[in-house]
Amino acid sequence: MMHKDTTVVLSKTMISAGSSVLAALSEDGLKISGALKVVDGMSGNAVSLAVKNGFKAEKGELKMLYPAGKLHAVLLLGLGKRAELKQDQFIDGVADGAKAARSAGITELHVLADSFGVKDSIRGITLGSMLGTHRFMKYKTKDLAKVKNLGKITIMVEDPAKQQKAFDEAKIVADAVKKTRDMVNTPPNVAGTEEVAQYAKKIAAENRLKCTLLEEKDMEKLGMGCITAVGKGSAAKPKIAILEYNGGAGKPVLLVGKGVTFDSGGYNLKPTNYINNMKDDKAGAITMLHVIEAVARLGVKANVVAAVALAENMVSGMAYRPDDILKAYNGMTVEVTNTDAEGRLVLADTLAYSVEKHKPQAVVDIATLTGATMIALGHFTTPIVGTDEKLIGQLKEAADATGEKVWQLPLWEEYGEAMKSDVADLKNSTDGPDAGVITGAMFLKNFVGEAPWAHLDIGTTVWSKADKGAKQKGATGVCVRTLIEFVKNWK
Ligand SMILES: [Zn+2]
Repeated sequence: MMHKDTTVVLSKTMISAGSSVLAALSEDGLKISGALKVVDGMSGNAVSLAVKNGFKAEKGELKMLYPAGKLHAVLLLGLGKRAELKQDQFIDGVADGAKAARSAGITELHVLADSFGVKDSIRGITLGSMLGTHRFMKYKTKDLAKVKNLGKITIMVEDPAKQQKAFDEAKIVADAVKKTRDMVNTPPNVAGTEEVAQYAKKIAAENRLKCTLLEEKDMEKLGMGCITAVGKGSAAKPKIAILEYNGGAGKPVLLVGKGVTFDSGGYNLKPTNYINNMKDDKAGAITMLHVIEAVARLGVKANVVAAVALAENMVSGMAYRPDDILKAYNGMTVEVTNTDAEGRLVLADTLAYSVEKHKPQAVVDIATLTGATMIALGHFTTPIVGTDEKLIGQLKEAADATGEKVWQLPLWEEYGEAMKSDVADLKNSTDGPDAGVITGAMFLKNFVGEAPWAHLDIGTTVWSKADKGAKQKGATGVCVRTLIEFVKNWK
């Protein structure tokens, strides 16, 4: 037996006897009208009674009712004041509603979409339903029959034809997030560099994208001394996978992702408690693979190239060491001062090579680059830095539209001082912890050429410790939605 994710469908509003309904109410008058009035009638006025008895519809408030009437259950979700409701709060509310229904043993939930009355409500309901119920269960083998499962969520609207496009789009986006989470959660003994490269090839084949794979010997020939050094200590050889989507005219947008399939830290070995979950160090690469896949599935009118750098950072007699001096693809020399600052090394060659080859209009990279992100912005905000205010503005707008949170940090040249080496052009790690997110970006800046460039550091936001709202414990799929939205709006 295999665990199956919740199926989410769109249908015309039809409230039948015995069903379980999720409906929303807002603080704007607590009005029970339209289809919600029908629900109220069928449930022996359970909704009106709940309001009378203290349901205030505060933001995120949930109330499960088991009415005496014809319905099995009515789950009320409070929206607070609609005008103040943010997209992420809306999505989280729906997700928590779906989780509550699942915990209550409900196997099919009908969502009364028309009761929400919020802009883009179909998108939010679809994302909340799909992401909130998603679980990584692939490696669970025992007692699966006892696991409570919400088999189906039916999103009910008055006019499904009118909402079909928004629903289909939201599904593609949610799928991209789910697949990103699954692959990031996949353990390093299963998802090594070869397996992720094959995965990239499969995505390319399924979506008719061009796919080029650089193997270790190709990279050596090209003079990529940084990524090859990082990969040296592992039996899993480093690779770069490049996927190309041609949906428009002109030069492409280049998306680059860090894919360290496991990061032991190398000879600067990570201690216990820091080495766990280092399977998440491939998240940047996995993110970009699913962004370009979604962009293709959505038929976005743009040209996009995704270049993902794959390596495993391990310890062995072959591994690179502190004090090594490496030569990057663009000719710059890098002194290794910390083998755990490997992400910027694999990105350096990948950026320099793909920028030269594809001459992009803009470059965006995403990486679990630093732990310094946690000190800077904590667990739910992703720092963004870059060389181009317009590009950063476009990414911030895209994040706002999806309800994800990014925050810009400066990239003033003074920060570059910290990356200077006594013996090479650069060193890969600073002497202390100061401004780690920015100095990491300052390092990368040497490899992006003249194109406008922005860098997202998901070092902390990649992972969730809580099972709450649209998030589960584990990989978050953060920035997938932002990046799809960004490419969709690209001009
Ligand atoms: Zn590292």
